[in-house]
Amino acid sequence: MENILPVAIIGAGPVGLAATAHLMERGETPVVFEAGESIGANVRQWGHVRMFSPWEFMVDGAMVRLLEAHGWQMPPKDGLPTGNDLVDRFMLPFSNLPEVLNTIHLNARVVAVSRRNVDKMKDAGRDAAPFVLHIVYGNSDEALIEARAVIDASGTWHQPNPLGSTGLPAVGEKRQSQHIVYGIPDVPGKDRSRYADKRVMVVGSGHSAINALLELAELKRDQPQTVIYWTMRGTNLTRVFGGGEDDALPARGRLGTRIQAHVDAGIIQMVSPFRIREIAAGVDCVNVIGEVPDGLETLQVDEIIASTGARPDLNMLRELRLELDPSLESTRQLGPMIDPNIHSCGTVRPHGEAELRHPEKDFYIVGMKSYGRAPTFLLATGYEQVRSVVAALVGDFEAAREVHLNLPETGVCSTDLAGEGAACCGTSSTVPISQPVLLSLASIPVNGVLQPVGLQVAARDCGCDDDCCGDGVRSTTCGCGGDCCS
Ligand SMILES: Cc1cc2nc3c(=O)[nH]c(=O)nc-3n(C[C@H](O)[C@H](O)[C@H](O)COP(=O)(O)OP(=O)(O)OC[C@H]3O[C@@H](n4cnc5c(N)ncnc54)[C@H](O)[C@@H]3O)c2cc1C
Repeated sequence: MENILPVAIIGAGPVGLAATAHLMERGETPVVFEAGESIGANVRQWGHVRMFSPWEFMVDGAMVRLLEAHGWQMPPKDGLPTGNDLVDRFMLPFSNLPEVLNTIHLNARVVAVSRRNVDKMKDAGRDAAPFVLHIVYGNSDEALIEARAVIDASGTWHQPNPLGSTGLPAVGEKRQSQHIVYGIPDVPGKDRSRYADKRVMVVGSGHSAINALLELAELKRDQPQTVIYWTMRGTNLTRVFGGGEDDALPARGRLGTRIQAHVDAGIIQMVSPFRIREIAAGVDCVNVIGEVPDGLETLQVDEIIASTGARPDLNMLRELRLELDPSLESTRQLGPMIDPNIHSCGTVRPHGEAELRHPEKDFYIVGMKSYGRAPTFLLATGYEQVRSVVAALVGDFEAAREVHLNLPETGVCSTDLAGEGAACCGTSSTVPISQPVLLSLASIPVNGVLQPVGLQVAARDCGCDDDCCGDGVRSTTCGCGGDCCS
């Protein structure tokens, strides 16, 4: 009886849909649960952002084959889609295919997964017991659905990291939530008035932060009273600015080059390191209190954009036997392979079903969520993961073992973006940061007094207790005894 149960997929993001396609190619009829009103609900939330990977790396082979059978045409492979393009031109056409349409259940949030009549402690009969997914629908109806295997592709976007430098919410963060947006607001579009001529702090050092900052810099051209602060915990700007022309994805390289130019021109005022402890109400503003090398400082702002990365929702998996990396919360075996202190997108070696296995048989976490808190995930990785996982689920273990992945190099050797931003990081060539880092010398109000931020930041750039080699983590970019610290 168990064999006729479907494979359940949690999440109709790009990777969940790719899993659907691979299962259908293998003759299976999966069942997909998507919490949003439409497929690609997470991508829609940053849909205005132009991705740095061209179409070539954005599409999954099995989805393409099914689409092409219905006359779909691939967009120009070197074009750069926005998130909305990815949904409208690829994911939606796929989800609307007649053979796919009925497999996807929208407004259906998976709140828990377990096994029939078996809780986490029970061994007997565990592997043979069907999975049970607890679903809560948009109208609050609930259901228990059984499946023979579960692929969790629910992403991490909806679980943003808090602003506190400890990984915990800063004191007052929840109370001041009306001033905070997590992720990448639509600054040029619907959120424009929220930021125009305001003092805005962007927190984080990843590509999400950079995207928000570039959009704010554009806004400042028309609304010159807009003040843009950029704060982050770390100080390793080589990693933050990325590999520039050395990046194999030119659009990704250009993000760093453009942001550096805005910082150099004083359009964006960088305050780094700035380790947020507290967010307190001010008069028509908020006071953000952070640790700087000389003690505590306060920045007064109107709005905060928290681009501090995201973390996986593990609550819904509480009854399953998982083996997770203790720091990244990725699958245990994947952890050392993707640790952003060591690896980057380009150096992550191909991996598949074997590395994604948990003690819970026939349960897999794939896509963005498989990387846990690591920000280095690329879609091409997820597509290869699900090809391999599906092969194993249908018993084709040879195909499951043969993983192939060729990711574009970023042009910097490593990153300290862990937990601080989205998307991608560095690769293999070493870029020592012995040269002085250029920063804006514009002044910012600190405790009501104007202070030159550039000098303060440059003086601390290579401190041995900074992120470049501190916090107990020695990166490949610089060493505590090396030039960077002189
Ligand atoms: C701004 C930005 C730019 C990026 N640019 C690139 C790029 O250029 N190149 C690249 O390769 N990668 C890029 N990425 C990284 C990555 O490819 C994307 O995040 C991608 O969307 C991950 O796909 P996913 O399917 O794993 O997760 P998601 O796209 O997050 O999809 C998860 C889906 O699961 C649903 N869901 C969540 N919880 C539940 C639940 N409990 N029950 C049911 N459904 C649920 C969500 O609604 C969502 O639809 C970027 C990421 C961001 C944020």
